Amino acid sequence: MLDLVIKGGLVVQPGEAFIADIGIAGGTIRTIRRSGDPLTAPTVVDAAGKYVFPGIVDAHMHIPGYFLSSRLDNFDSATSAAALGGVTTIMIMPTEDPRTVTPAYFARKRRIGEQQSFVDFCIQAMVSPQTERDEVEGMAAMGAISFELFLAYGGNPGFIIGNDDYELFRLLQLVREVNGVAGITPHSGTLISKLTELERAGEIARRYKDPRGKAKVLPSGVREFAITRPTLSEGLGIARACTVAAETGTRLHLRALSSRHSVDLVHRFKDAAPLSSEVMTHHLLFTEGEAEVFGPYGKIVPPIRSKAERDHLRACIKDGRIDMAVSDHSPVLEDDKEDGWNDIWQTLPGMPGLQTFFPSMMALVDEGALDLTDVARSCAEQPAKHFGLYPRKGALVVGADADLIVADPKKPVILDNVSQRSRARYTTMRGRKVRTSIDSVYLRGTLLAQNGKLAAGPGGRFVKP
Ligand SMILES: [Zn+2]
Repeated sequence: MLDLVIKGGLVVQPGEAFIADIGIAGGTIRTIRRSGDPLTAPTVVDAAGKYVFPGIVDAHMHIPGYFLSSRLDNFDSATSAAALGGVTTIMIMPTEDPRTVTPAYFARKRRIGEQQSFVDFCIQAMVSPQTERDEVEGMAAMGAISFELFLAYGGNPGFIIGNDDYELFRLLQLVREVNGVAGITPHSGTLISKLTELERAGEIARRYKDPRGKAKVLPSGVREFAITRPTLSEGLGIARACTVAAETGTRLHLRALSSRHSVDLVHRFKDAAPLSSEVMTHHLLFTEGEAEVFGPYGKIVPPIRSKAERDHLRACIKDGRIDMAVSDHSPVLEDDKEDGWNDIWQTLPGMPGLQTFFPSMMALVDEGALDLTDVARSCAEQPAKHFGLYPRKGALVVGADADLIVADPKKPVILDNVSQRSRARYTTMRGRKVRTSIDSVYLRGTLLAQNGKLAAGPGGRFVKP
């Protein structure tokens, strides 16, 4: 006996899309019927002429205010943005205060999530030079989806590995011993700090030479910020982490690849260690020229690069050289971003991206860069597979959780700031028209969002690998 049938939609899977009825009972997919007698249930949703995608699995996002802050994104704002954007499973990065570095913090995050999250969630743990073995073992036992290492930035001072090869080795060994996935945010701390020092000294010199002392230092400074985080920095971090993983056998996930060199490097190590990689939607969408125009809103790490790099990253997500796309939802508030107009160094890097994740990918479909099936593969199946959630998450297959997006290819949407639920309240996608809009989102068979509005309360569950 079925509870719900999604009838006659174009079911989008990795590699194929076909018209079928999806029968759901008890929150899971019970049958997918391509032909024969139509399925019946108390609720039948007519999806004829629409797309049915698996709910997006976002392997990289941040909820900076989940516990200590009252102004930053919390579970309510971030996960309702996710729900409206078709992201039904999130993996939460550990960088927020308090950082997810001990079993006690892990348990607290889980508790808050179980009360407040609108979507299913996984928790990523942070490991650092301060981490002890029992903390890794404890968080592994609690179901950490990954253990995050920050080689140059992102983990905040005191939690960064830096150039300490002993710590990199020790921590990757520990992660291997609990059979975990190590998430690597690469880069070279010494290269970045020296380049930043030189760049800022150059800015001061340019100011001094300005005869009236009034000229703005730079159009927006985003390009100059980017100089301090070159692709070389990314490559150095990738090579170090992969070299160590080749010794320890640790499964690595390389975060936020932004260049051709990085992708090539990862591939050179593919025989030596089990690796996966990701790219942010921002790097698939934008070029450095656009980031410059966004001003402080275009400041992210790694920086947005050239059109040639962007096009290459698109090709890599299309052919699978990069495994998955992620939002890296980093909702720096508008007020905090505005500080960056006068001085780019005064604002934090980061862009919101949860609510615009699916629209971003559909914008790439509109442009002909991706097919529908590429979206199902790179935004649902692959993240679920690499982090041990498949086939429960990331797939429209019998036995999977009934997490899905019904999208309407005949109903275009123009993205704007006012619909954004994140406390960042803006999107760098504003003004962009996307041909396909989200009609409705289901989480484990329950209608979660419809026509841009939430249809259910916070019913998200903690999910472990
Ligand atoms: Zn991030």
